[in-house]
Parts: sequence; structure tokens; C-alpha cells
Amino acid sequence: MELAHILNHLGEDRENYYNAVSGPIFQNSIFCFKDVAAMRDGIKKELEAPFYTRGYNPTVGTLRKKLAALEGAEDALVFASGSAAIAAGIMSVVKNGDHVVCVNKPYTWTKVLLSEYLPKYGVTTTFVDGTQLANFEKAIQKNTKLIYLESPNSITFELQDIEAVAKLARSKGITTMIDNSYSSPLAQNPISMGIDIVAHSGSKYLGGHSDIVAGVLCSSHKRIHEIMSKEFMTLGAIISPNDAWLMIRGIRTLELRVKRSAESAEKVISFLEQHPKVEKVLHPFSKQNPQLDLAKKQMKHGSGLLSILIKAEKPSQIESFSNALKYFLLTCSWGGYESLVFPMVGIPSTAENPNPNPWNLVRLYIGLEDPEVIIQDLKQALEKV
Ligand SMILES: *Cc1c(COP(=O)(O)O)cnc(C)c1O
Repeated sequence: MELAHILNHLGEDRENYYNAVSGPIFQNSIFCFKDVAAMRDGIKKELEAPFYTRGYNPTVGTLRKKLAALEGAEDALVFASGSAAIAAGIMSVVKNGDHVVCVNKPYTWTKVLLSEYLPKYGVTTTFVDGTQLANFEKAIQKNTKLIYLESPNSITFELQDIEAVAKLARSKGITTMIDNSYSSPLAQNPISMGIDIVAHSGSKYLGGHSDIVAGVLCSSHKRIHEIMSKEFMTLGAIISPNDAWLMIRGIRTLELRVKRSAESAEKVISFLEQHPKVEKVLHPFSKQNPQLDLAKKQMKHGSGLLSILIKAEKPSQIESFSNALKYFLLTCSWGGYESLVFPMVGIPSTAENPNPNPWNLVRLYIGLEDPEVIIQDLKQALEKV
């Protein structure tokens, strides 16, 4: 399906909505019926047609069609956050007594779910260095039901060979799931590589304007229906119709935004790679990445998210650098219109919860500003180190 068709037309059903070019927001919880027979019929179809918004809402329905098509999936579900989507996806696969193999540096709250929460229900996880396929093979047990990937992760960007892991899992009847937030559906489509469930944080590139928190799961009709009739309806972490509409609005420009952010990042990376105060640039498509060939094999391009290790003697120099940036806002997250800086020295690190990343690591997100402006800003801030 053409990207232009997905973004501009798929699922709009304009003829049903007065041919409104930008579709309506169905800001309502309930839909009523003309008689009892119609109601009985409507309740039977509560997961596919308007009855109660937790199950189905037309605005969310439009968004689901677009997201599924973007990932080359049969169906998609949208959640109140990326974490809610990830939790529902994982919990749909495992039960008491099951085992999960997960990459060793997934998103923070994915790690908490697997290492602290699910053990309460008898589900255990082995975390592995996902850069080597053999580590997955070694970690698989008789009761392994799920292999969970995040390629790349969003701080240090290690990759997994998605196709190889999917093949290994298939041969053993193990379900695979991946957090594909970093790449967005434009740069990497794991379903085409054999992955069963793809998760996204909709709060990043998909929303694209730092104004919503949302999450997405893409998979087969069968699996999406199963998740919907269990985790989705019972845990109830749905997106609001208004936020769904904002995501539809956001993805109208997904191609433009991701392209601009990724292309600007390439320029920024070239600048940083030869800067004397930068020890290392971390990004899947950096010349310094030992997994560059794998990145080229499974990703169409990089994204605007990267990290640098700064040559500094003490944390205060990293603070001076971060404070000196004028165009980069100091905060977490990424994927919006604005450049962001997220230094590890800004994250509270305690004895029981130590930050596993080097203190001189600074994550940068390259927004939609003129790349020359961004480079000049980085240049003057690096002088403060
Ligand atoms: C932000 C993020 C999440 C969590 O998404 P929320 O929408 O914040 O719940 C998960 N994975 C990655 C890679 C992320 O960047």
C-alpha cells in the first residue's frame, strides 16, 4: 500500500462523516441503538463496532487501520501509553510458570515489568546481551514462551539480528515481540522479518509533537483479537478519542518529520564524530558503530536519536555542556519537533537503582530545526566542557 494512501486516506470513511477532510473526533463514551434487537447485535460486536468507547471508537478505528498498514500488520491496537501497550503484549503471551528471554537493556519500565512485577505471577525472565544470537540460544529453556527484543534500544542503540532471532524462535515455537519505537514504522518493519508482535510508544515519532502519551501494538488479526478480549478490555488502558485524533494529525506528517530529523542527525553525527571533545558517537548508522552492517541490513535509515560520550574529567563539565545548549530542551523523551538533551548526570542514581550507563553519556534528539543552527549550538556548548 502506498504511504501517501495510508497517511491521507486509509480508514477515513469520509462519506460517513459529511465528507469532512480531517475526520471528526468522536468524543463520546457510548453509542445507542434503535431497538433491543439492534442492541443485542451491537453488544455481540462490541470489539468491532461503536457501542462503548473502551472497545471501539470510530476515531480510534481510523487510527488503528493506519498504524497496522504502516507496520504491514493485519491489525493494531492503541493504548494510553507505550508502557501499557508493552505490558499488554507481554502479558498476553505468558502465564504462571513461563519464562521470557529479553535483551539486557530494554526500556526502563519494560525491565521493571519483567524483573519486578511479573515474578509475582510466576513468570521469570533471563536478560541477555542481544548482540550475539548464541546468547538467545543459550538462554532458552523448556518453558520459554517469549523472546522480547528492542532493536535498537533508545540510549546506547545496540541491535539484535531480528530475522535470525525470529527464525530461532519459530523453530522452537516461541513467540517474539519487539519494541520498534526507535525506528518508527518507516525505518524498520519487524513483521516482515518474522516477528509476531510489534510495539511502539506513540508518544515519540508517531505523535510527533510532544503533546500526547500513547502506545501501539501491531500483530495478526487473531492475536490482536485475543489481546483485545483479555488484556485490552480488562486492564482498560485505552487512548482517548481526542488523543487518537492528535496521533492521526501527527502521522499525516510522519514521513516529512522522520526524514528531516534523520537527515539532520546525519549531519550532526558527522560533526560530532570529528570533534575533539567527543569520545564516541552512539547511533546505529554512525561509522563508529561495530554493528553498522546489521543496521544497514535491517533498517532503511537511522533516526534523530543519538548519544555521545563526552571527553570530560568530572560530571560538572557535562552539566556545563548541557546547560549551555540554547536550542536543546533539557528533558526525557524524543520524537517531537524540538531538539532535546538528556544527560545521564541528570538522572538520580541510587545504590539500589544505579544508572547502568556511563556518567559522561549525553543523549541528544535532533528535532526539525535547521541542522546548521543545531550544529552551531552544539559547537558553542562543547567549548564549555
Ligand atoms: C518512550 C518509550 C517507551 C514507553 O512509551 P510511553 O509512551 O512513554 O509509555 C517504550 N520504549 C521506548 C523505546 C521508548 O522510547
